[in-house]
Amino acid sequence: MDYSKESIKKEVIDQGVEFIRLEFTDMLGDTKNVELPVEEIDSVLDNEAMFDSSSISGFSDIQESDMYLVPDLDTFKVMPKEVEEDSVARFVCDIYTPDGEPFEGDPRFILKRAMQEAKDMGYTVNVGPEPEFFLFKLNEEGYPIRKMNDRAGYFDASPIDKGDKVRRDIVSVLKKFGFEMEASHHEVAKGQHEINFRFDDMLKAADNIQTFKSVVKNVATNHNYHATFMPKPIAGENGSGMHCHLSLFKDGDSEFFDPNEDDDISQTMKYFMGGILHHASGITAITNPCVNSYKRLVPGYEAPVSVAWSHSNRSCMIRVPTTRGKGTRFEVRHPDPTANPYLTLAAVVHAGLEGIRNKIDPGEPETRNLYEVADDEVPTLPTNLKEAINALKRDEILMKALGEHTSAQYIEQKEAEWKEYSLQVSKWEIDQYMNK
Ligand code: GLU
Ligand code: MG
Ligand code: MG
Repeated sequence: MDYSKESIKKEVIDQGVEFIRLEFTDMLGDTKNVELPVEEIDSVLDNEAMFDSSSISGFSDIQESDMYLVPDLDTFKVMPKEVEEDSVARFVCDIYTPDGEPFEGDPRFILKRAMQEAKDMGYTVNVGPEPEFFLFKLNEEGYPIRKMNDRAGYFDASPIDKGDKVRRDIVSVLKKFGFEMEASHHEVAKGQHEINFRFDDMLKAADNIQTFKSVVKNVATNHNYHATFMPKPIAGENGSGMHCHLSLFKDGDSEFFDPNEDDDISQTMKYFMGGILHHASGITAITNPCVNSYKRLVPGYEAPVSVAWSHSNRSCMIRVPTTRGKGTRFEVRHPDPTANPYLTLAAVVHAGLEGIRNKIDPGEPETRNLYEVADDEVPTLPTNLKEAINALKRDEILMKALGEHTSAQYIEQKEAEWKEYSLQVSKWEIDQYMNK
């Protein structure tokens, strides 16, 4: 919907909005927000809402802490009652410095830079994300316990599936947010669910992921469950991925579809995949940002382990679904839903465009089950966060994609996270080694 300041003010009055919520995403991918009473609507629309960015992960230093929230008018939404009982309207915001410049550490700005780079080459990129999640039960105090909401599996029906009503409510609320909803179903693991929504351009897709996660969490809470996007909450069960389907367009036509080529896949699509495969190790530091992310990327659980592409094989990092024509696309399978969606799409697209520019060959599609192929035959994704961060540091394209500020902050925070984890002694180690 195309909004103007005037049409927003009219809707705010017509709908009796009392609070304006200004949302943005920090470097680690968490949604942050501040609320203003509706009387402040003029100053909000005049970009005068200020905040202290020094307390936000990955933002600025204490000496340059004042930043401005600039609402993106297209993201205006009066929030559905199911997620907000009071009368609240939200905006997703860009971050600006006091000099009136976009803040270089704003993940949304970093994604916009990637979009501009695609545009300079004549392309627009569409993204269809698939974030999976688990529902856990709550204790009497309302805190999550390690018990899933059901013991159902892939496509199971109620009453074995106890998430159907929750998923249906999530779909209804997202529709009110303007999402075009697709299928929803129980996923493979107990307590695991997936709800699909339609692809969009990169910026809207990233904004949608953030709205999706917030709606899922709020609706789950209404049903007395805790929704988690943690990549691998239960050892020995499938983890949660956030596969991203990507397609490329020029003047409204698919740049990925070419009926004159083998498999009807264009050379451009092959180079784009080649770029992503070439930069896979560094990309993983962004798409799989937690220590726990790497417990998902192991053989046997439908998550990818190999840096390769294929037509149907789920053990590869990239899979090409059979749809052709405008729907010709590939699915990047290694991202998980704890990734910052803005940085994820920026990194993946910069790498893909680099592949087109340098004609990077992705090699032949894999037909083998790579879970059963030795590591030295096909390169594997990093096996832990530290390896991934080291690869990111060596990757000039990705460091440039993030920009000087964010790359430095990101590496510093993720190295600290790894160090803290390395100092822990787990139950597994106690069980394994106590009798030594
Ligand atoms: N849950 C799997 C993963 O970790 C993916 C299952 C699927 O293909 O949807 O990526
Ligand atoms: Mg799935
Ligand atoms: Mg998928």
